[in-house]
Amino acid sequence: MVYSANAERYGNMTYNRCGRSGLRLPAISLGLWHNFGGIDSFENGRAMLRRAFDLGITHFDLANNYGPPPGSAEEMFGQMLKQDFLPYRDEMIVSTKAGYYMWPGPYGEWGSKKNLVASLNQSLKRMGLDYVDIFYHHRPDPNTPLEETMAALDLIVRQGKALYVGISNYGPEETREAARILRSLGTPCLIHQPRYSMMGRWVEDGLLDVLEEEGIGSIAFSPLNKGILTDRYLNGIAPDSRAAGPSVFLRSEELSEEVLGKVRQLNALAQERGQKLSQMALAWVLRGGRVTSALIGASKISQIEDAVGALNNLNFSTEELARIDGILAQ
Ligand code: NDP
Repeated sequence: MVYSANAERYGNMTYNRCGRSGLRLPAISLGLWHNFGGIDSFENGRAMLRRAFDLGITHFDLANNYGPPPGSAEEMFGQMLKQDFLPYRDEMIVSTKAGYYMWPGPYGEWGSKKNLVASLNQSLKRMGLDYVDIFYHHRPDPNTPLEETMAALDLIVRQGKALYVGISNYGPEETREAARILRSLGTPCLIHQPRYSMMGRWVEDGLLDVLEEEGIGSIAFSPLNKGILTDRYLNGIAPDSRAAGPSVFLRSEELSEEVLGKVRQLNALAQERGQKLSQMALAWVLRGGRVTSALIGASKISQIEDAVGALNNLNFSTEELARIDGILAQ
């Protein structure tokens, strides 16, 4: 059936300004790392994209290597764009990245100009796009001068292949330096994409301060800690969950009794707040307005609906925050 987007799609979503740029991003964004690869159901992925867009989610995050197999998430997304979203392209923010291994030889990963330019060309072809809205360097490269990597990002913007650029997984000092170089080239760093959740708080140790000072936005990846901060694993490992599937990024060993004990207590607190645990975990990442967007993954439409529902209660009392800290410190 021909897709026609929900006319009310902008009614309930919150859009936050990304750093000191002109771009506003939805408080909830959808990532295509899992569940959109060549091994996954095309129709399920397509239904999730439609529902997300209907709920006001305008931002979709990809990378060259998402799949599996690597590259297939961009191919699937490209087909979904062609079938459903071409009339809405100007209402969408599409991002992709380069930096992790993609092809053999010395140019298939890391941060050289050769890698970044070639990888983005491949990504554009896979997605059938002329440009992406945001292009990221995916991880710092200890062996390439930062000047070269940042010059590659600047070049890509000047070529019209990306509108904005960002960095991911960079530490606080590398971020400050990257921002300085990009500013001197005339292409400001729009955004940083770090891992951030209740169970992984490294960004609080300097990075968020740097981002604020430099006027860079932030999009927190794995805010549900890959599904651990939900009710998914409270009664064991469901066969359709990430921990049961082929992903090497969430192994059942991560779901120890110690971790699940904390998850159960957090779940009880979320219930007191009238939220699901997944919703409390997203509200927590967005608390205080320091994070522009929470970047979720989903395997089902209902998970996207849950995430958007988190926006109904983003406030925490001092006591609730202290209880969360107490549970996590146990
Ligand atoms: P999350 O922490 O949001 O985990 C998503 C998973 O949690 C889902 O696949 C689902 O697992 C489970 N889940 C989501 N909502 C619910 C719910 N309401 N109830 C129960 N379970 C739920 O994020 P991801 O780890 O998927 O990462 C999100 C995105 O971040 C990626 O797609 C990617 O775009 C980006 N990313 C970036 C990285 C980088 O280096 N820059 C690295 C990693 C991710 P299940 O499949 O079991 O149903």
